Amino acid sequence: MNKYFIFTLGCQMNRSDAERLATILEGAGFKKSTEDKADLIIILACSVRQSAIDRIWGRINQWNHWKAKRPLITILSGCVVADDKRKFRDKFDYILTIDELTATPQMLLSLLKKKLPSQDYFRIHPKYESNFQAYVPISTGCNNFCTYCVVPYTRGREKSRLADDIISEVKELVSEGYKEITLLGQNVNSYGLPGKTTNQPFIELLKKINAIPGNFWFFFITNHPKDMSDELIQTLPELRKAGHYIHLPVQSGDDEILKRMNRHYTTSHYLNLVKKIRETLPDVCLSTDIIVGFPGETEAQFENTAHLMKQAKFDMAYIAQYSPRSGTAAYKLKDDVPKPEKKRREKILTEILKETALANNQKYVDEVVKVLVIEKLKDYYYLAKTRTFKNVKFQHTANLVGQFTKLKITKTGVWGLEGKFIPPPTLAKI
Ligand code: SAM
Ligand code: SF4
Repeated sequence: MNKYFIFTLGCQMNRSDAERLATILEGAGFKKSTEDKADLIIILACSVRQSAIDRIWGRINQWNHWKAKRPLITILSGCVVADDKRKFRDKFDYILTIDELTATPQMLLSLLKKKLPSQDYFRIHPKYESNFQAYVPISTGCNNFCTYCVVPYTRGREKSRLADDIISEVKELVSEGYKEITLLGQNVNSYGLPGKTTNQPFIELLKKINAIPGNFWFFFITNHPKDMSDELIQTLPELRKAGHYIHLPVQSGDDEILKRMNRHYTTSHYLNLVKKIRETLPDVCLSTDIIVGFPGETEAQFENTAHLMKQAKFDMAYIAQYSPRSGTAAYKLKDDVPKPEKKRREKILTEILKETALANNQKYVDEVVKVLVIEKLKDYYYLAKTRTFKNVKFQHTANLVGQFTKLKITKTGVWGLEGKFIPPPTLAKI
């Protein structure tokens, strides 16, 4: 039996790719195994940030060392820019795009001397990592060309998946008992209509998913501030199964930097969106992405970002230090904010985030919330997630992983909550 191991780095999109790839490999007779026993190691990497690329260097030398002791094939795939591919050319046996990897199983199968029909990426039935949480891509690629970002180059132009296919996949997952579905796209708002100012196809899709019978909730990421419409915001309350969690990357709180990032919105537009979302869904949890140290970012421009963070009162922020990515428009600009200064800016924003997240979390004390139990921790502790995407720790003797339950929130912290299990009401005896 041939054994495979898939190593994913970076985004949810790569995890979703890994689930689809597992189907192809298992269809070809491969069996999932650990890294140290695999005959085939595929790394789904992400050039979005330099740190992911640095981690590949850390692994590949080990794998090449193993090759001297056992037959081993290594493949590099994912969102890797041409420059990084060149650097890894002599280190991996094959470097393939995701499309090549999934649409050309023959290539993989020539390793096994078997044949399989070519498959459309969206039609591959994934081998989900979890049996109660699943990522479902609704589109791939991106047309926005933010000047710092490699995605339009590594994933190509935005391609939406047919609504019927998405709905069938969600229906199947729900019928198999899945409780949490996350719809994925680089810009979910432009689903079906990239470049248009309406979210109609996306709203229609959300309504159809919401109407699927069954005990589940769903999330959707990522929203783009230039494309998230009032119509979509107004629809949120009627989506009874949608999580009250919106990921809305702002990237910078300075209008000049936003312009140079090619983001096509201003900070006042962004803050106005935040206001409308909070008015429509008062318990919403808001998260964002921010880049510090974009080329030419002055202290005053950075201060504008710090100010925006205080106004937006985020629950979570993924703060990244700018890293130049070859092939992008910003790569031609001088990366002139020194590393220690990027680090300092990141630290300041993290401190602001800690304050706003803690203040937001404190509102949960004594609330009874529905949660999905995600993971068993130590000492009878479990990790669960609220409909607003908050982590909650609680203690219980029975294994509730994969089930919905109710908790009363007893404690709050910056990064999560603590709760007490509330037994479901027992039916009165007749
Ligand atoms: N499509 C999403 C959007 O519009 O914001 C985000 C996708 S991107 C793959 C994920 C995040 O990585 C971005 O939001 C950005 O904050 C960060 N990122 C992308 N390129 C970067 C770079 N060159 N340096 C640092 N962070 C970067
Ligand atoms: Fe990258 Fe911008 Fe597209 Fe997001 S919207 S994937 S940041 S180019």
